[in-house]
Amino acid sequence: MSQLTLKNIYKRYDNAGKKLFGKKHVENDFAVKDLSFECPNNSFIGILGPSGCGKSTTLRMIAGLEKITGGDIFIDDVRVNDLLPKDRNIGMAFEDYALYPPLSVYDNIAFNLKAKKTPPEKIAAAIGRIAPLLKVDELFAMKPSALSGGQKQRVNIARAIVRQPGILLLDEPLSHLDGKMRQTLRQEIKRMHHEIQCTTIIVTHDQIEAMSLADVIIIMKDGELQQMGTPLEVYDNPVNEFVAGFIGEPPMNLLQSLIVKRDGGFFFSFEESDLLIKVPGHSQDLVADGENVTLGIRPVDVLITDSDTSTPVPVSVYENFGDERRISMKVGQKHLNITTTENVFYKHGDIIHLDFNSEKTHLFNHETGRVIR
Ligand code: ADP
Ligand code: MG
Repeated sequence: MSQLTLKNIYKRYDNAGKKLFGKKHVENDFAVKDLSFECPNNSFIGILGPSGCGKSTTLRMIAGLEKITGGDIFIDDVRVNDLLPKDRNIGMAFEDYALYPPLSVYDNIAFNLKAKKTPPEKIAAAIGRIAPLLKVDELFAMKPSALSGGQKQRVNIARAIVRQPGILLLDEPLSHLDGKMRQTLRQEIKRMHHEIQCTTIIVTHDQIEAMSLADVIIIMKDGELQQMGTPLEVYDNPVNEFVAGFIGEPPMNLLQSLIVKRDGGFFFSFEESDLLIKVPGHSQDLVADGENVTLGIRPVDVLITDSDTSTPVPVSVYENFGDERRISMKVGQKHLNITTTENVFYKHGDIIHLDFNSEKTHLFNHETGRVIR
């Protein structure tokens, strides 16, 4: 296992700004901008962000497959900017499996070790250790063409870790798999990480994947790091509206609001709506009468109350998922979503009263989207 450090990394593709045939082109000049982070020994880091935000580019620069435009990458204390991929002791499993079709599963996993002239008994020992972790032992004799997507991906990951790399890079390893298989393999990757003790980075656009696997998540947008923190930190304390809206399913409600002063302090008011929600005590000092702010509240933190002291709101959509219920309401022209595990049943047009869990409200600057605190 190794420690990985990125310092002020920039990437600009040679053809940046030019539109190419096919899908690869950079709208902004830099695919990655001033990216710095550290992955301690044996950590599990998730890089999360929408398609095109620079995740794969970052991984490929770490692997040495892509030239760095600016900045430095260190593995342990060695600056690796100019090291060849093979000299970085990195294992990679990317989205497309790239298994060798004529070789058996065993020979695919053994391929790199054989290329390094590792004695067969050592190869057998290494594969014997890894195979059960990823349940590939029963596949050894098969050819890649006979494998399902999930099996291919297991073999792909087994091949990456059998060399005992210092760092393991996984680029969207689950994205081709269906829901159930994703969940199974996700748990296996997590178990494997506990077993093999290897600094691991997983890249994904799926926040569930990042939240469940990683100890620390890096959220990127347009090539820039937005926030780095534990899953709970980024969930509970998003630094901006982008992170707030990206983490959590269903996403956080983000409502444009005008602060108004009434008896008892400041309230959130909403365009074309009579709904008034009191600004929580700890935030009363952060707002001013007539100010525009974005109010963020997660669907689980909007509460349905019996009291009719709050403004009545009509239900527009009610969905029952068995273990939870989702209710959508209109606040002016905007939708406000609630999820609840309580057994409540509504139909379109029913009137309910709302309260917000004031500890869990977030305020964002109307213009910059940055959290106000
Ligand atoms: P992600 O993996 O987050 O979806 P990428 O790292 O693949 O994003 O891409 C980041 C940006 O760099 C995108 O705008 C993409 O179009 C561009 N890009 C990626 N690869 C190349 C390339 N080989 N040449 C030019 N532009 C590229
Ligand atoms: Mg990618």
